[in-house]
Amino acid sequence: MIKDNLAKIRERIPRNVELVCVSKFHPNQSIMEAYDCGERVFGESKVQELVGKYETLPKDISWHFIGHLQRNKVKNIVPFVELIHGVDSARLLREIDKEAAKINRVVNCLLQLHIADEVSKFGFDIEELYAVSHEYTNLKYKNICIRGLMGMATFTQDSDQIRTEFQYLKKIFDDLKNNHYIEDSNFTEISMGMSDDYPIAIDEGSTMVRIGTTIFGHREY
Ligand SMILES: *Cc1c(COP(=O)(O)O)cnc(C)c1O
Repeated sequence: MIKDNLAKIRERIPRNVELVCVSKFHPNQSIMEAYDCGERVFGESKVQELVGKYETLPKDISWHFIGHLQRNKVKNIVPFVELIHGVDSARLLREIDKEAAKINRVVNCLLQLHIADEVSKFGFDIEELYAVSHEYTNLKYKNICIRGLMGMATFTQDSDQIRTEFQYLKKIFDDLKNNHYIEDSNFTEISMGMSDDYPIAIDEGSTMVRIGTTIFGHREY
């Protein structure tokens, strides 16, 4: 099952787009099935679950945190996390920098921009995003590397709306990069696209898709 699902998805993803296998709420056994197909990048959205899986699964897995991160839990994942996708406040960014400094690590982060037409989704609004980018470039957080942006489209059947939202994220990314709001050659990633909308996201310039259900099946909460 997982093997067939992955084969189909891999056919639709260009080589330069990274696949993050979203394994939240799925057991280690399912992760190992994907691992045995060659997958090494997995995404989790709960700190405790991520730490537990990190401790028990092979150490060459690259763990991405894709959920809403609380500041008091930053220290638990900073020692090993490869990329934090959903940074959505300056305070969180400072906390990650502080905890990473304690252990002499540089932690990769993506800034999450609110692009959906829904109040419930997390993320910076546009003014905050530019303010944080400015702060990053000027204060030079030493233990953080902002690798790019992340966004989640509205949960809708309207593919034109989804496309427009992804185009907006790409446009803001280009502006931050090309107009030197973020002066960092590592600022290269646009994390957008999930099970239902990843083909659109890839069309619109995604470099990283986060896919769960289409690989592992439905989650039982
Ligand atoms: C759960 C989750 C995903 C994966 O969603 P699917 O629809 O199962 O592919 C992607 N991104 C984030 C931020 C998530 O929380």
